[in-house]
Amino acid sequence: AYMDGITCICDNGRTLEDHRPIVGDDVISGIYRKAAALQGKRVLHVNSTYQSGGVAEMILSLVPLMNDVGVRTQWNILNGEGDFFTITKNFHNALQGQTISFSDDEKGLYLRTNECFSGQMKIDHDLVVIHDPQPLPLIRFYEKTQPWVWRCHVDLSNPDTELWEFLKDFILDYDRMVISHEEYHRKGMSMEQWICRPAIDPLSEKNRDLTDAEIAGLLEKYGVPIDKPLITQISRFDKWKDPEGVIDVFARVREHVDCRLVLCGSMAPDDPEGWAIYRRVEEKAREFIDAGDVILITAEDHLLVNALQRVSCVILQKSLREGFGLTVTEGLWKGRPVIASRIGGIPLQIEDGETGFLLDPTDTDGFAWRIRQVLENPELGERLGRAGKEHVRQNFLITRLLSDYLDMLNTELG
Ligand code: UDP
Repeated sequence: AYMDGITCICDNGRTLEDHRPIVGDDVISGIYRKAAALQGKRVLHVNSTYQSGGVAEMILSLVPLMNDVGVRTQWNILNGEGDFFTITKNFHNALQGQTISFSDDEKGLYLRTNECFSGQMKIDHDLVVIHDPQPLPLIRFYEKTQPWVWRCHVDLSNPDTELWEFLKDFILDYDRMVISHEEYHRKGMSMEQWICRPAIDPLSEKNRDLTDAEIAGLLEKYGVPIDKPLITQISRFDKWKDPEGVIDVFARVREHVDCRLVLCGSMAPDDPEGWAIYRRVEEKAREFIDAGDVILITAEDHLLVNALQRVSCVILQKSLREGFGLTVTEGLWKGRPVIASRIGGIPLQIEDGETGFLLDPTDTDGFAWRIRQVLENPELGERLGRAGKEHVRQNFLITRLLSDYLDMLNTELG
């Protein structure tokens, strides 16, 4: 993908037909049927980054498929100064339950950035989808002649009340709000709140099959030996992903089993907190790092993520909050055992003991115990992984997301 002005160009060359062998004829013909009445309709997605993080990843795969089935879909990226992203990152934290107060200056900068961006972006589409809080106020700066949808990807189960009231003012201008989980449903909203689960693209670099030679090449390039069992958490260095807690868990496991931990988290341009958290993790894991038992990676490389997930004996996701948790989906799709927090969207994906293991996010001993159990019983891991992969095939592939979007378009434009 690359930027042409404010537009992200993301034709990856893949078509719906490419998904037929993975999901079967019924799914594919269902999608063509739903797209029939939408030929030539024009849809605009707006978010604030085209790299790093689950949201960009999904839009990146969705846009080419929408175009392939005849819905002309464009993707624009809101640009802003560093301070803007610091404020919106704090919005994100506050929406996920942290208490933070915002000054009038900060709110002013948030609005001005949106207003200024609206001067660069013409909207004459049939439907507009705005992702997350960063571009939420855009709706104020247009004469609205089409349905607008606010797609919120964060965990809204317990947002900071003051911030919620501020944002709600904008949200109420929308025709529809889309959330990932029933628990994020907000009371007192006049519009429809529609639940749509996220999904992964099985053909992307992140998820496609890799040859053994490709895997070996990637691991060598990034200096990840596999002479010991590997435990991996793929996550931005973000407090909600609890990388420091992962080090605590690893320390307990390492007392009993010789193994290695990889924490892989690229730095998103709209996430200014990443490096500070990285340094704290580095400090905490210093001895393990020196001994080669903990490896921290900050590169953004989808093939590397893919390779790491495929060779890991355990995939961890010890989040404290998690809107959905695409890394869990990705791990399950690789047929690997995933051990994760019973939080946000993760229990939608993991049935405890069937498609992985769930634990209380602060249960360090519980995490360590489950990891040991899987490391010591490879057949257990294989069984969980097989069931997890089928669960993803049925529920969380991009073809299902495409189908949901077509349903929404048919409802809004029909
Ligand atoms: N990701 C990545 N490289 C990294 C860390 C994360 O490509 O170093 C990807 C990860 O594979 C997943 C997405 O970023 O596709 C994270 O999505 P998730 O829903 O797990 O969390 P979010 O970052 O959206 O909170």
